[in-house]
Amino acid sequence: MRAVRFSGVGRPLTVEDVEALRPGPGEVLLDVAAAGVCGTELHFLDGLLTPARTPITLGHEVAGVVAALGEGVDGVAVGDRVAVHYLHACHRCRWCTAGDDHLCDAPLGFLAFATDGGFAEQVAVPASSVVPVPEGVDLPTAATLCCSGTTALHAVAVAEVRSGADAVVYGVGGVGLALVQVLREAGARVVAVGRSRAKLELARELGAGVTVDASCTDVAAAVREATDGRGADVVFELVGTKETGVAALAALGKRGTLVYVGYSADRVEVDPLAMVVPEQRIVTSVGNRRAELVAALDLAARGRLVTSVTTHPLADAARVLEDLRAGRVVGRAVLVP
Ligand SMILES: [Zn+2]
Ligand SMILES: [Zn+2]
Repeated sequence: MRAVRFSGVGRPLTVEDVEALRPGPGEVLLDVAAAGVCGTELHFLDGLLTPARTPITLGHEVAGVVAALGEGVDGVAVGDRVAVHYLHACHRCRWCTAGDDHLCDAPLGFLAFATDGGFAEQVAVPASSVVPVPEGVDLPTAATLCCSGTTALHAVAVAEVRSGADAVVYGVGGVGLALVQVLREAGARVVAVGRSRAKLELARELGAGVTVDASCTDVAAAVREATDGRGADVVFELVGTKETGVAALAALGKRGTLVYVGYSADRVEVDPLAMVVPEQRIVTSVGNRRAELVAALDLAARGRLVTSVTTHPLADAARVLEDLRAGRVVGRAVLVP
């Protein structure tokens, strides 16, 4: 079976023939239909994140068709079209029982972080981590929802966005374009900030009322202008550099919430006084809950969450990642084995 393997920082990704997989007890084996290419993969290549072991097969946004069942699996059948929740939660710990399975203390697996991911012809995952893909949603789209679309849903839930809120989406990659739509569904007014004209145009088509080109505009001033001087109620920071952090804080209004979703190697300085007086807060949002993946697939089935997907062969993984790094991917790229 072919798989895209990561062996460590500074070493090229390789497409290798690896041993065929068998589903263990409680697992299902999937024929991968598509696996999304995410900024997280760049963080691995750069050493900002380190997987639990190497070599490891990358790819944590996976959808496919069930090819075989391990011992004791029920409720899933061979031939089912499924999306995979990337963090295979235990469903027993205090976080899981509270519904926050994305914070699980004892995960059974974690695609591309601890267990082999979906940049491969097949992947084996716990049956409890797969979610049926509704009719009308194609598998490449379902794959992208496993991370970008559902991460957007989670971030909006964490931020407690109210109808009528002024929201800024800082960064219009895969997560950002999904956020624009989820915020539109929540009744927010959306300002999208980016550096690519094509991505900003897409953001506008998907529901952003205002777009700001950060390469030639003072972002905070543009946000204040778009909000009658008030500043934003919520800013979603999807880039996470020093520069974007400063601008995001400056764009925030009274009682505003800055939500960190993206990150980089940069540090950001915070001036407590400047935040205390307008009673602002900073929160963070990581990944998503399994239930949010179900909700994202449902939104997609109803045409309320669309993803612009481009498909590429597994062998092109390294090139697609470089395109992503250079900002050349509009929407989401997926690898198809
Ligand atoms: Zn991802
Ligand atoms: Zn758990």
